[in-house]
Amino acid sequence: MDKMFVLNEDQRAILETVSRFARDEIAPRAARLDANRDPLDCFSWEIVEKAHELGIRTMTLGEEWGGLGADSLTTAMVVEELAKADLGVSVIMAQTFKVAQIMQRALSPEQQQRVLPGFASDPRGLLAIGNTEPGNASDRYLSIPVPFATGAERADGGWIVNGMKQFISNGNRASYYLVSVQTDRRKTMADGATCFFVERGRPGFSIGRVHDKMGERLANNAELVFQDCFIPDANVVGEVGKFGAVYARFLPASNSYAGASVLGVAVALYEKAVEWAKMRVQGGKPIIEHDGIRAQLAEMRMLIDASRSYIHRAAWLADHREQGWDATLSTLPKTMASQAAWKIATWCMEIHGGHGYMKELGVEKLVRDAAAFLHSDGVNRTLFLKAANDMFR
Ligand SMILES: Cc1cc2nc3c(=O)[nH]c(=O)nc-3n(C[C@H](O)[C@H](O)[C@H](O)COP(=O)(O)OP(=O)(O)OC[C@H]3O[C@@H](n4cnc5c(N)ncnc54)[C@H](O)[C@@H]3O)c2cc1C
Repeated sequence: MDKMFVLNEDQRAILETVSRFARDEIAPRAARLDANRDPLDCFSWEIVEKAHELGIRTMTLGEEWGGLGADSLTTAMVVEELAKADLGVSVIMAQTFKVAQIMQRALSPEQQQRVLPGFASDPRGLLAIGNTEPGNASDRYLSIPVPFATGAERADGGWIVNGMKQFISNGNRASYYLVSVQTDRRKTMADGATCFFVERGRPGFSIGRVHDKMGERLANNAELVFQDCFIPDANVVGEVGKFGAVYARFLPASNSYAGASVLGVAVALYEKAVEWAKMRVQGGKPIIEHDGIRAQLAEMRMLIDASRSYIHRAAWLADHREQGWDATLSTLPKTMASQAAWKIATWCMEIHGGHGYMKELGVEKLVRDAAAFLHSDGVNRTLFLKAANDMFR
């Protein structure tokens, strides 16, 4: 399908590499990995290492760190391309792309020297963001005045952190994490929480349960556990008490990447529906020749194209905020794309009839995957509320 923005030579080359990677390395493995019962067995280091070899894993790092310096629009396009082959792999990479972007913008030069060379050279280097807690989830999007349960007490030269995070993408696989911690218990998370970067293996920091998800299974999600974990002042990202500012200021494109992930699933569903409609004969002709089916395929196409345009506009404006960025672009594109994908999933199943419900055609996996982003990166209803608060504050 056409892209809304004109691609330059560099973007075209990156997308061609990613398409080949998705076709040759991800697609042939995805169904088999997804079918494993244990979520740990659904994850593939081979895929991550191949992404490293091709320069995909580090593509949002600047050239001075050995990356390609990909902008947010190119990154969103890449995320969609990966997700057409498998949603989980796109999420593994999207988290890494976006945390690498935040780190380059928000870490001090000294912190960057400590983190980025190691991340760039490690073929298994992945990144994660830990905000969600068992008792504290949508509240952070809605500025509800409560504190994070994961908190820190002052210690000599740093902080002693206790608490836990849950549902964290790449939680058990990452080498570096950005984590929100309440450093002033008397305040709310909006004015008393701090963003820290945490290295894997730091004493007192461990991985809890790995979640058994219904879809997006090639990515792992896990709990992060902090038990008297000392984190030095040198690991504070931005200013103490200003965790929200780090994400708001340095990563406006996060929602576009989430939207691009689920959009890739929508495209895969649409392509399956078209293929089946051309092949399946009922009523004396291929079902694509029946008006109801043809019209539904056009509606799918419209939802995909409109979602993509919204995502691309938001991703481009994230890098050119002076051109008309507004806060709803950090909530609504993913919401639209995930609603579209969910509709397309049910229609794709319907077009396949009973075959859509049988595992062997692969529609069932895509339906499970399409559900992931109704909740991930913020529940849609929560994001509508946040957008409304931004619009009518
Ligand atoms: C696949 C997946 C990957 C994820 N990856 C990460 C990650 O990498 N890092 C991370 O930090 N988190 C991650 N999350 C967490 C995700 O951001 C949270 O699930 C999400 O923010 C919602 O939290 P919750 O599931 O606890 O739902 P709740 O906040 O408990 O919401 C439950 C319901 O109540 C509604 N609701 C809540 N508050 C209000 C209100 N004030 N008014 C009206 N309705 C309300 C919500 O809209 C929702 O329908 C991930 C989640 C999933 C499913």
